[in-house]
Amino acid sequence: MDYYFYTPPQNIFAAHLIISDEESHHIKNVLRYRIGDKIKVVDGVGFEYIVAIKDYKENDIICSILDKKEGCCDPRCKVTLFQAIPKGRRMDIIVEKTTELGIYRIVPITTIHSVSIPKSEKLKLSRWNKIAISAMKQSKGTILPVIDRIISFDEAVKNLTQFDLSLIAHEKENITHIKDVIKRRIRSGKEENSIAIFIGPEGGFTEEEIGLAKMDNVIPVSLGKRRLRTETAAIVAIALILAMRH
Ligand code: SAH
Repeated sequence: MDYYFYTPPQNIFAAHLIISDEESHHIKNVLRYRIGDKIKVVDGVGFEYIVAIKDYKENDIICSILDKKEGCCDPRCKVTLFQAIPKGRRMDIIVEKTTELGIYRIVPITTIHSVSIPKSEKLKLSRWNKIAISAMKQSKGTILPVIDRIISFDEAVKNLTQFDLSLIAHEKENITHIKDVIKRRIRSGKEENSIAIFIGPEGGFTEEEIGLAKMDNVIPVSLGKRRLRTETAAIVAIALILAMRH
């Protein structure tokens, strides 16, 4: 019973919901649940349901809703990660781990030192989305992070007005630690509910990129004295933000 399944909001109605695709295959053919069995379902937008399996119809499972409640464990603070796409499978790790921690949105970006630009954006997005679904379920989350289309760094820094606070992790920033910025804001009574954080590629951000970000009120922050790999930097930054602003 402590297993979570996912179905998107458009499959949820007043008294019943429908589970389809891979999730229904898993329930039917792998776990072999039967009609009448109770399962837990999350909708990716903040709610969890207890349902009873009512009927199997081809690839769909029809369930009656027995109970609906807000997710137990989602952060109030909405954190958006602007992540320079790293090489190989590293983005998979970033999507998985930051979803476990409770990220709200992920925007893959390309930067001057980006070496990896996916050949098929559609394939990558669908792969990352699947990873996010399973990480959300595994971590008892009910918010499925939105994974945006890939945009350039320049485009990203120009569209930050919706955020209460925007940060850029820069290994050459040796004065301001990310914790100091958040602590200062908490002390001054600012209740940030949406925070943006930029993490650079293997080669780091250029000084021009940092300059551009500063002009758009993005604050450069340190994650400590050690030079972290991009995927470690993303996980550490999100963990620190959410530990202080959950
Ligand atoms: N330019 C560096 C490495 C970049 S590390 C070099 O090759 O020497 C990749 C990204 O992780 C950086 O762009 C930054 O966003 C983040 N990062 C890694 N370590 C960091 C630290 N100690 N402080 C802040 N950001 C860090």
